[in-house]
Amino acid sequence: MILSDANHPIYVAPPLGNIVTLGHNTPMTEPNPLPSNNWPALEPGWVWLCGAGPGDPGLLTLHALNALRQADVIIYDALVDSRILDWANKDAKRIYAGKRGGKPSAKQRDISLQLVDMAKAGKRVLRLKGGDPFVFGRGGEEAQTLVQHGVPIRIIPGISAGIGGLAYAGIPVTHRDVNQSVTFITGHDQSGETPSALNWQAISDGSQVLVIYMGMKHIAPIAEALLNAGRASHEPVAVVTQATTPDQQVLETTLGRLVTDLENSKLSPPAIICVGRSVKMRQVLDWQSMIAGAAPRNLDPLGRGRPAETP
Ligand code: SAH
Repeated sequence: MILSDANHPIYVAPPLGNIVTLGHNTPMTEPNPLPSNNWPALEPGWVWLCGAGPGDPGLLTLHALNALRQADVIIYDALVDSRILDWANKDAKRIYAGKRGGKPSAKQRDISLQLVDMAKAGKRVLRLKGGDPFVFGRGGEEAQTLVQHGVPIRIIPGISAGIGGLAYAGIPVTHRDVNQSVTFITGHDQSGETPSALNWQAISDGSQVLVIYMGMKHIAPIAEALLNAGRASHEPVAVVTQATTPDQQVLETTLGRLVTDLENSKLSPPAIICVGRSVKMRQVLDWQSMIAGAAPRNLDPLGRGRPAETP
């Protein structure tokens, strides 16, 4: 779907549909051993805090799969794809601990204490969180509470939406011609407001590429803060919703038009918002559209005028 007005074309890629699921249709046969490795055992009384990646089950780590197959109890978040839970040990108890902005949710402290209780009851506990457990996922708090209660833990990192989700949209989070740093930002603070502790001027001056998590609710003040801090209104922005899932959609726009275009696009969270010139790389790297048969839109979107590898 292309939405545009006369002067300012914007581009919204349609949901990925079955493109993203290609290759996931092969049933897992039982037994389906993991490749040989010294796989750790999830012992009774332990909690493994594990990232489930941004959505596509294929982005799970093998450590996570190993954990799913051993856990007695799995406590999972809203952003964990249900197809991943299908890979769990059949007898495992599944407990939903979803926390989505604005919706009723289990309290963070209650979740942590529930983990402690289950571990103390001798269960093999898997705490499964969207993306990476230590990236805006409160994994650090849960892990600290567990350690404070004497519960042994293992941490299993996951692919964070701000990296893997952008990759699925064809946006490299760093690119030699664009940025030497990238800043991950949360659009919410603990009170649910735009983070007051953020120094938007420093962020704007200091990093060519910004990756904003949980930014949809407060996108207007965030965009305004960046423009006030001197970021150009023509700077490219991408909004990637439901990244890596069959419902992934991508809005390409500019910082100046972001709020209006987002409103018109009717896209809804979860979304990763990327601000910076690396968004332009999508014009040549939108591999999902290429799988679907589209030609690359622009072979040299950064205007190098010479082969990509040359200095
Ligand atoms: N620990 C997670 C982030 C948790 S905060 C990680 O590392 O990815 C929740 C936010 O993550 C969402 O509001 C959204 O900004 C982002 N997010 C998580 N999964 C996403 C997905 N599949 N598509 C787009 N954004 C996602």
